[in-house]
Amino acid sequence: MLPVYIDRADGAVLVDVDGNSYIDLGSGIAVTSIGHNVESVVDAVNDQMRHFAHTCFMVGPYEGYVAVCEKLNELTPGGHAKTSILLNSGAEAVENAIKVARHATGRQAVVVFDHAYHGRTNLTMALTAKNMPYKDGFGPFAPEVYRAPMSYPFRDPEGMSGEESAGRAIEVIEKQVGAANVACVLIEPIQGEGGFVVPAAGFLPAVASWCRDSEVLFVADEVQTGFCRTGDWFACENEGVVPDLVTTAKGIAGGLPLAGVTGRSELMGNVHTGGLGGTYSGNPVACAAALAVIRTMWDLDLGGEARRIGAVIEARLHGLQKQHPVIGDVRGRGAMQAIEFVKPGTTVADPATASAVAAACHAAGVVILTCGTWSNVIRLLPPLTIDDALLNEGLDVLAESVAAAVA
Ligand SMILES: *Cc1c(COP(=O)(O)O)cnc(C)c1O
Repeated sequence: MLPVYIDRADGAVLVDVDGNSYIDLGSGIAVTSIGHNVESVVDAVNDQMRHFAHTCFMVGPYEGYVAVCEKLNELTPGGHAKTSILLNSGAEAVENAIKVARHATGRQAVVVFDHAYHGRTNLTMALTAKNMPYKDGFGPFAPEVYRAPMSYPFRDPEGMSGEESAGRAIEVIEKQVGAANVACVLIEPIQGEGGFVVPAAGFLPAVASWCRDSEVLFVADEVQTGFCRTGDWFACENEGVVPDLVTTAKGIAGGLPLAGVTGRSELMGNVHTGGLGGTYSGNPVACAAALAVIRTMWDLDLGGEARRIGAVIEARLHGLQKQHPVIGDVRGRGAMQAIEFVKPGTTVADPATASAVAAACHAAGVVILTCGTWSNVIRLLPPLTIDDALLNEGLDVLAESVAAAVA
């Protein structure tokens, strides 16, 4: 996306090989949430490298893996007994959550939503909604995946409540799949790549409660929303939703590849020994980084910082929306905020303006990302350690870029 190569990074600033600096409002897609080049993480990684870099946890176990799982069990929503497994990527975590759900329920169907993004492996391509660029020409896709309508307040009928939009989704599940065939409903509590779609209040609790009544597992994909991004450790906490299984990755290890599945112990324990795993899963260096990241998130109250950042961004974006009718919607939670570009006064997507704004930001030294089913959304995912001055400097550039794009 950026027409430059990066040489180094510190805090919320990237520096390219020619010495140009960029304000990072993307965090490598919500990964470096504690900032770049954080000393406690660098030290933890170096220290682990000096001990050992790999044994394969299934061959020679080590404490770091167990400690990360204990943290996941403690921090994810719900006070029930939990068990975690570690993997390498978000897609791999999602695949493993579905293996667990199918094994525990003896059912096969998986329900996902419009605009969903769950990864690029074969099973997760089937779960992901958008064809180009994720699926085009890469079929055939895995069977027993069904898609239900998402709550998308900006595009739903005016005044549609969360409960009503949940009813619309449940109707599709009951009529087209049959509750008794469904192993799990898999959902991002706030959609990431699909456009930072925040469902109407009441939608997630209503879907979760239908799942409970139907003995269908509720799986929250918190790969992008997790680890303080939305102002809580996990986005499900906002409405008190307790998932049966939670997938995590991205922000968990400050840039090292690590992912997790955390679930009710009776579900996770239902799988036979050796049924889940992988050569590099829960690599000790990545685990050392994750433990340092989680400690830093606690010490610096990065959930609180995400709320501070969210308040600054929201105020600025609402101000921009007042000036520019091309901004149809401002939405998000905490340090996960977006603007959706449309033809003024309509919901017709305007991807050309979104890409012009993104290109202008990049040229002016600010890294921002686009997303959305129509590629017409600009999303902001700054490091949770960015200060107000640098954040506002980045948002000034965004404002100038929007003004230039619509001029
Ligand atoms: C990024 C993402 C994934 C896939 O994670 P990878 O590490 O890229 O495999 C899955 N789910 C969500 C919600 C994501 O944002």
